[in-house]
Amino acid sequence: MFSRIRGQSRVINILQKALQLDKIANSYLFHGPDGVGKFTTALYFGMALNCQSEIDTKPCGICSSCRKFLNFTHPDFVFIFPSPNLDVSPEGEVKSDKLLNEYQDYIKNKIETPWKEFIFSSKVEIRISSIRMLEHKINLTPNEAKYKVYIVEDAESMNINTANAFLKTLEEPPQDALIILTSANPNSLLPTILSRCQKITFQALPRDIIEKELIENRFLENIEAKLYARIANGSMEKALRLVDSSSIESRENALELIKIILDHDDLRFIEYASEFRSVKSQTKLAEIISHLIIWTSDLTYLKIAPTEIVNLDNTEMLEKMYLKNPAVENYVYDLIEYMEKTLKLLVGNINPQLVLTSIYHKYTGKLAGGT
Ligand SMILES: [Zn+2]
Repeated sequence: MFSRIRGQSRVINILQKALQLDKIANSYLFHGPDGVGKFTTALYFGMALNCQSEIDTKPCGICSSCRKFLNFTHPDFVFIFPSPNLDVSPEGEVKSDKLLNEYQDYIKNKIETPWKEFIFSSKVEIRISSIRMLEHKINLTPNEAKYKVYIVEDAESMNINTANAFLKTLEEPPQDALIILTSANPNSLLPTILSRCQKITFQALPRDIIEKELIENRFLENIEAKLYARIANGSMEKALRLVDSSSIESRENALELIKIILDHDDLRFIEYASEFRSVKSQTKLAEIISHLIIWTSDLTYLKIAPTEIVNLDNTEMLEKMYLKNPAVENYVYDLIEYMEKTLKLLVGNINPQLVLTSIYHKYTGKLAGGT
């Protein structure tokens, strides 16, 4: 099953070697950009350690242990991720009635369509109750596994108290436990946590690998695959998200917005923003902002590095927009930084209309020569 993970053969070799020699560290940190296979690799590694098949290339993916891991129902597998306060009991039961459905939807999405963005209704972080649950479970005898497997996704989203509580477990994990942290920002982790993990580096994926996946397994045309691989910028997750038609619609929406901005057309903007009244449009909003960032950077590539343009199918349109507003290139980095910050703030009950309005003002203000 490891062969399903694209573009990380160096990492897979290291892990397979460790499996062959039976030299497994107690804790690992898988770090690298988002959407390049850190979680899947961690899951397969835990599966391989517990796989009951006789084949050499474990995990098999079909034995009863593997299937339980793939369905997230293995009693010795604990998955911890940034979430709202689910109020998890030491046994791992979600006690918050209000969030139980959201939690179940999150897990379902993670299993079935992991590339899709899932936005919780309130602020997320790795909660101390989850770490206490880990602490409790890690000291129990495994139910059926050889190794108990703990995956802590986006480990940097622990606050300092939680990180300190976790550190205690990390200091002396039992021999039959495998803890894997994943992170796109390992520098935000406590140095004491970093120093206790074996670090495994994941790289952004080369364009051709993403292109190949899109053509062979998602049946895209060559031109489309090339375009999506560029937009995805090294992330398979982003590329797959693009294959979902909603994201392509968002690309059009972002283009429409950038046209409205460059025309400084307040009336058309109000009409545009009014379609984002409901809080439910958050995922869509995140997609639009991501595309807006790409369209904006394309406007600068037009003059300085045309080979880097992502939206290859629209260079003529980009040219027109640029000529209308050549000042845009002086502000591109500011604008992109602003939108990246905005993206990070899209949690909980934000008002998409307000977010769009602030972006609109930021752009038109900049283009009019303001700040
Ligand atoms: Zn198996």
